[in-house]
Amino acid sequence: MPFKPEFTHPATESARSLWFIFHKGKLLTKADGEGQRILRSRDLAKADISPIHKQYLGKLDGLPCYAAVLADNHVAFDGFESKDLRRLFGRLEEELIWVAGRANHLVDWSQSHQFCGRCGHATEDKQDERAKICPECRLVNYPRVSPAIIVAVIKDHQILLGSNRRFKGGFYSVLAGFAEPGESLEECVAREVNEEVGITVKNIRYFGSQPWPFPNSLMVGFIADYAGGRIDVDQSEIVEAAWYSAQDLPKIPPKISIARQLIDWFVDNHSMPHSQKI
Ligand SMILES: [Zn+2]
Repeated sequence: MPFKPEFTHPATESARSLWFIFHKGKLLTKADGEGQRILRSRDLAKADISPIHKQYLGKLDGLPCYAAVLADNHVAFDGFESKDLRRLFGRLEEELIWVAGRANHLVDWSQSHQFCGRCGHATEDKQDERAKICPECRLVNYPRVSPAIIVAVIKDHQILLGSNRRFKGGFYSVLAGFAEPGESLEECVAREVNEEVGITVKNIRYFGSQPWPFPNSLMVGFIADYAGGRIDVDQSEIVEAAWYSAQDLPKIPPKISIARQLIDWFVDNHSMPHSQKI
């Protein structure tokens, strides 16, 4: 059974409920044989852990899931580990990764909206929906989602891949960037590609989307065709970019990301010259 998001807490608690608890931005896991697993209610009771910023997320396989934070001054516990969520890609079931991502998104929001942005008063959790409300001026803050585009630019059976200053591990990926107020996602694609590598694109079409909760992005994937210009990298974000054929790809991002899904789509559809599949 897939994850089912819910807002209203379950009527009965279970000792098997899953707790996605973050300590200093990292996910707390417990040693389980060779690997690590997500904490259960009974682990919290045993270790006397009292998390804050608790959010009920919904149910995974019928089990209630919670997000919470452990105060920074909490010391480490025997048998527990804290790991950067992105380092758990491939080591935790993908479904758990995405629930942990939701948890990360919501606790980050909860921690950064403890006070009203308009009048400075302490906020409260709204009782009837996932939001924080200021009891003084009634301003309501919903969890923020920041849309960003990610785009595979195609030219003559080649894909444009760049190396970003922030990438760790020296891999190459498709271009991405945040939408700005007032622009459509398609305008964002055209602007980002032009700003980052100096070329223009056409035939911008939707590919798919993926939450990227680090801490609050929604990646919206597109495919676009090269229209004109020569690659001229901006050097502020992108340090190197080039056209690659399916047979000659550099090191690319991990399977779980939409970046990789775009590159895999390109490989499936452009492995042979003059392929007409799309
Ligand atoms: Zn206020």
